[in-house]
Amino acid sequence: MEKRIAVISGDGIGPEVIEETLRVLEHATMNSGLTLNYTHYLAGGCAIDSKGRPLPEETLRGAQESDAVLLGAVGGFKWDTLPSDMRPENALLDLRAGLGLFANVRPAVLYNELASACPLKPSLTENGLDIIVIRELTGGLYFGKKERGEDWAYDTMRYSEPEVRRIAQVAMKTAMGRKKQVVSVDKANILESSRLWRSVVNEVAKEYPDITLSHMYVDNAAMQLVRYPKQFDVIVTENMFGDILSDEAAMITGSIGMLPSASLGSSKLGMYEPVHGSAPDIAGQGIANPLATILSAAMMLRHSLDRDDIAKSIEKAVSLALESGARTKDIALANEKSVSTTEMANTVIGFLEA
Ligand code: NAD
Repeated sequence: MEKRIAVISGDGIGPEVIEETLRVLEHATMNSGLTLNYTHYLAGGCAIDSKGRPLPEETLRGAQESDAVLLGAVGGFKWDTLPSDMRPENALLDLRAGLGLFANVRPAVLYNELASACPLKPSLTENGLDIIVIRELTGGLYFGKKERGEDWAYDTMRYSEPEVRRIAQVAMKTAMGRKKQVVSVDKANILESSRLWRSVVNEVAKEYPDITLSHMYVDNAAMQLVRYPKQFDVIVTENMFGDILSDEAAMITGSIGMLPSASLGSSKLGMYEPVHGSAPDIAGQGIANPLATILSAAMMLRHSLDRDDIAKSIEKAVSLALESGARTKDIALANEKSVSTTEMANTVIGFLEA
């Protein structure tokens, strides 16, 4: 089977981690019956430089016509002083909107081998951690009506039933492939939109009798994540709460260079990217950790290309690479020797082949 992948390398370390990820994909899909056809597109700072805008028309069109989008990262010092509508990061918002991606799925996995990177007490994370935060991406406080007066301003948190229903469906389906536990996070003791959220999530859960659903207020969820993170399997929440909680969950795992993400919509088409940015401070040095992007490619295989088997083989190879002691600088202890971006990818490829 052939699939079309739109590859957007972007800026900074984006091209470095994408290049290594494509090599890993080449090995992972070899003899699998799946052929990936890549088309490269510009977005972010490099697109501003050569096309005059963060998201050129052909990039959006190419992404829309693909089976999946694999993205490195965009942005950098060079474009920091541009007016807000010309910033490289706008390419991401416009891509998500243009592709109808309403669910951001962020696994926060703490590998046993990296336990020392976790800022929590070891007893809280014994045998690793595996949480998925599912954040609503196109509604809520970030997209509601807002206004600024001379000495006042307001933002609104608005949700409709269909918006909540579709994100709740993503959470339930995700949990079905895991421990079948969903915690829906809201602020239903105060916010009307949260009361709607809670009742719709309850309704959707009736279609999934195997799922254990519970509700948690967002302030409590923030506390519980650091008090006892193992209690969580799948967390589903609105846009701003999810923005904050997914960063908190990411921090628990210790390294931003390890965390993948997927943005999904109602079709199979999704966008897959590492959680980290373009890391201009280390760009061009060949030391960036490629694992977040490699794991994002695994998510792409699972969600957009229906190849859970290949996704699992990549995830297993990453785990074995870490077990073997391979560490890029960001995850190495002070006294540990570190490997380059390419050496890390080579180690993963070695375990894929083994
Ligand atoms: P960042 O994630 O790029 O970097 C934060 C720190 O983490 C830096 O010290 C960096 O060296 C390190 N780091 C990040 N990824 C790493 C990796 N794979 N391996 C090793 N170390 C890694 O965040 P920032 O510094 O706040 O932002 C830099 C630029 O990236 C900004 O222009 C920002 O707007 C942009 N950004 C883009 C995205 C995206 O494209 N999705 C996301 C966040 C930030």
